[in-house]
Amino acid sequence: MPILNRAAEMQEEIAAWRRHLHSIPELNFGTHKTSDFVTGKLKEFGCDEVVTGLGRTGVVGLIRGRHGDGRTVGLRADMDALPITEKTGKPYASSVPGVMHACGHDGHTAMLLGAAKYLAETRNFSGAVAVIFQPAEEGGGGGHEMVKDGMMERFAIERVFGMHNMPGLPIGQFATRPGAIMAATAEFTITVTGKGGHAAMPHRTIDSIVIGSQLVMALQTIASRGIDPVESVVVSVTKFHGGDAYNVIPERVQIAGTVRSLKDAVAATARARMEAICAGIAAASQASIHLEYEPNYPVTVNHSEETTFACDVAATVAGEPNVNRAVPPVMGGEDFSYMLEARPGAFIFVGNGDTANLHHPGYDFNDEAIPHGVSYWVRLAETALAA
Ligand code: MN
Repeated sequence: MPILNRAAEMQEEIAAWRRHLHSIPELNFGTHKTSDFVTGKLKEFGCDEVVTGLGRTGVVGLIRGRHGDGRTVGLRADMDALPITEKTGKPYASSVPGVMHACGHDGHTAMLLGAAKYLAETRNFSGAVAVIFQPAEEGGGGGHEMVKDGMMERFAIERVFGMHNMPGLPIGQFATRPGAIMAATAEFTITVTGKGGHAAMPHRTIDSIVIGSQLVMALQTIASRGIDPVESVVVSVTKFHGGDAYNVIPERVQIAGTVRSLKDAVAATARARMEAICAGIAAASQASIHLEYEPNYPVTVNHSEETTFACDVAATVAGEPNVNRAVPPVMGGEDFSYMLEARPGAFIFVGNGDTANLHHPGYDFNDEAIPHGVSYWVRLAETALAA
């Protein structure tokens, strides 16, 4: 079965919501206007319950089917934007300086609203659908906050599904995999404190710049020499701050970055290697080296039965040749991981076509993806809750 006629009919309306949301991007838990917009639409659609304030600014709508009681399936979208200055030049571009929807969460929110409208109109299922709109996906852990606020228990959610657009994947295609699909993330900050002094008398200093540089190079050996080459790990240094003058060796430099991995054991080894490197270089250089290491999102692990189910549903919408059931994992992080730790489910990529990449100032969600994403959500709910 191809995309739903009704979803195609609704495309212009959903695209208008998407463009409105695109123009008012909000960061982290500050998704007040977006949450209000979502809440207003869910009430207008006649959802049986609309609950706000879960995970601070998260919103959940509950839609009961007309075929009696039964299970609840959760469908999740994210609402937050990124601290990037938009360069799309689109008429609906961000009206907020330095903030833009560069990850397509405007599209995710609009597509799930479209599915909610359809499901509230038709209600051709038993049990209930919980449409979940979370804030703070981009590092704040809004999904985790909603789980901690008891969302799964409150709506008796048994299974939960997530969707993310993917630039480079053609429109109308879907891709996912069982097991790890997105990486665990950790952030680190290393402070090197040496002894500052005259640049012309380096022997009387403990040079934090040289020691910091050794650290950056040594950290590269975590991936190249510390981890089994068939495993996946990323160690990226993304900040290196220190020094103010041409002729002064600074006392202190600060280095920071991120570590990504697909297995808990690999994450633990990477952390242990980083601690050992910091301690070893400190001993060799006589500098003091302080490491702050903060694990952030866990690995996003798709449950195997639910992944097969999600792929089967995607195949009814897109056709089997347009569903990749074994896409390679992506080393980005996702806080849908917390929902998959709480309940079985699966995360799927939907094609965004040939667009700029995620988190790029020229990125824009592709409205052509809307009928495909909406049809997937609707079919997923109706099939999971077949009367
Ligand atoms: Mn995203």
